[in-house]
Amino acid sequence: MTLRKNIAGMTGYIPGFQPENEAEWIKLNTNENPYPPSPKVAEAILTEVGHDGANLRKYPDAASKKARAVAAELYGVDPSWVIMANGSDELLNNLIRAFVAEGEELAYVHPSYSYYATLAGIQGADIRTFGLDDNFRLAGFPERYSGKLFFLTSPNAPFGVRFTNDYIRELAGRCEGVLVVDEAYADFADGSAMELVGQCENVIVTRTLSKSYALAGMRLGLAIARPEVVAALDKIRDHYHLDRLALAAAEAALRDQEWLNDKLAKVCKTREWFSSELRRSGYRVIPSQANFVFVTPPDLDAERVYNALFERKILVRYFSDPLLKHGLRISIGTREEMEQTLAALVEIG
Ligand SMILES: *Cc1c(COP(=O)(O)O)cnc(C)c1O
Repeated sequence: MTLRKNIAGMTGYIPGFQPENEAEWIKLNTNENPYPPSPKVAEAILTEVGHDGANLRKYPDAASKKARAVAAELYGVDPSWVIMANGSDELLNNLIRAFVAEGEELAYVHPSYSYYATLAGIQGADIRTFGLDDNFRLAGFPERYSGKLFFLTSPNAPFGVRFTNDYIRELAGRCEGVLVVDEAYADFADGSAMELVGQCENVIVTRTLSKSYALAGMRLGLAIARPEVVAALDKIRDHYHLDRLALAAAEAALRDQEWLNDKLAKVCKTREWFSSELRRSGYRVIPSQANFVFVTPPDLDAERVYNALFERKILVRYFSDPLLKHGLRISIGTREEMEQTLAALVEIG
């Protein structure tokens, strides 16, 4: 047997570390929401299961019509502009399959989400990356970018900086291919690029329910895109990509905006408090519009601080990448978790 060369040569994506005895840790390494999801989600799932599980005998709605309708209403678009997905990762994958043939080029910002590279590798696509300058603008982005697809993570991970819509509009005008704005963290930000989907022909926005809706375990994402893009993504996906429980969870979660707004306010308030306290203790903290902060210790030795936190059973994200090894990405947990983390960081120095 012979594997395709690009598959044989790949390392595969390495997800954030999930410790075994999770209760013993303060886990701030994968940007999960510290709060349980809306209680309406568990209720909807239990209702869907029923007392004897009889509903599970039947296939789910392949077109996720109800969930799309709820999302469409929430975002003020026609349902033909919405697709649901098994995590936004599924959309990133299928967007590449839709727009970038083997040997063609896609691009993304480095540093951002490292899964883009894995997905490009599976497709056998060529990769180009663009760095960020000191003002968090793309360094060296050409007047005309001829690649087939460009992923822009906004707010960026791991820095948490959001790109303005004026800037994204300008970038879209310079892209010959599609501009996919990965808004995994946009609910935590003070704005979104969603309106650009209607204004610019080549802009697609992806969202996830993993972070803001506390549903990482359900695997739910969505995209807002032109109907012709939605139709293409509908051809590519597995027919039954979302099971009945996921669909029930998606509808319930998207309907409970009161829960969402309450938790967003809590996380953002904790983020601002944690950032300013850390700055007072000599750490550098990039102003974040996401549910994490990128933190640089005074001596720039983030690996030392990572290890000292690890010893105290506090798990954060350290990247050995030369562009990131001076800092740590710390997810925003509950106020109590962040108080303990702050105390540990002050002690570690
Ligand atoms: C978490 C994350 C995703 C993946 O979201 P899922 O819906 O859990 O697949 C995509 N992009 C970025 C930038 C993320 O941080």
